[in-house]
Amino acid sequence: MLNKTGVPTLEDIQTVSPSEERLKKGPVAIIECFQEIPCNPCTEACKQGAIRPMEDINNLPKLDLDKCNGCGVCLSRCPGLAIFIVDASYSDTEAIVRIPYEYYPVPQVGEKVVGLNRAGDELGTFEVSKVQSGGQKNKTYTIWLIVPQSLAMEVRGLRLRSTEIQPKETIVCRCEDITLGEIQALIKEGYSTIDEIKRAARAGMGPCQGRTCRMLIAQELAKFYSIPVGEVLMPTFRPTVKPVKLGTYAGGE
Ligand code: SF4
Ligand code: SF4
Repeated sequence: MLNKTGVPTLEDIQTVSPSEERLKKGPVAIIECFQEIPCNPCTEACKQGAIRPMEDINNLPKLDLDKCNGCGVCLSRCPGLAIFIVDASYSDTEAIVRIPYEYYPVPQVGEKVVGLNRAGDELGTFEVSKVQSGGQKNKTYTIWLIVPQSLAMEVRGLRLRSTEIQPKETIVCRCEDITLGEIQALIKEGYSTIDEIKRAARAGMGPCQGRTCRMLIAQELAKFYSIPVGEVLMPTFRPTVKPVKLGTYAGGE
């Protein structure tokens, strides 16, 4: 399901949801990383030892909820923007959700922004209470949103109310640094499938093999041709579907 829609299922979410009791204790990381990809910066980032070291770099991260203090260091190090911090102890009626953000312009403290769920649907307008830069090397900002308690496990994205997306500054394929503007230009030129765009621009040929950009490109094609996104021709998936060590082949496994 996630591969087709880009949206995790309820069952996926349940596997990483803390108990009500843990949520009420204070800030905690919610690691919504559900695809086995060669990635582990979160394990290195956590100095509390809350994210267990992976035996295999393709493993999913495992969080020790009791060790996590919700510091948010892992959030800004995750290249997949898959980590959120939820603080349900903020007040009786409201919670803070910290969201990774990599677009310009960056929202300002006090600004009202549109909160989105995992599918990109609007959930309401919420106030930004803090904006944290990732520092000189890390360009990921963390946006602190005040949301109703009932939406603390729902709000996972945001959109500014007043600005249009800037295609030249919006990265679609993070592995190969391909912008939305470049994808849109290729579509206008006549490239009409994800495979064609992949061959022309290398979008989807980096380490994540299109897991991030595939559906974004499909959405652009759907918009351009005025068709449902489900009708966009998907690329062919061939084994191996994840990196395999040479030793595994050499060992004949
Ligand atoms: S929020 Fe802080 S303590 Fe919790 S997993 Fe991330 S880095 Fe570790
Ligand atoms: S995508 Fe993020 S959460 Fe998943 S393994 Fe990589 S750093 Fe960790």
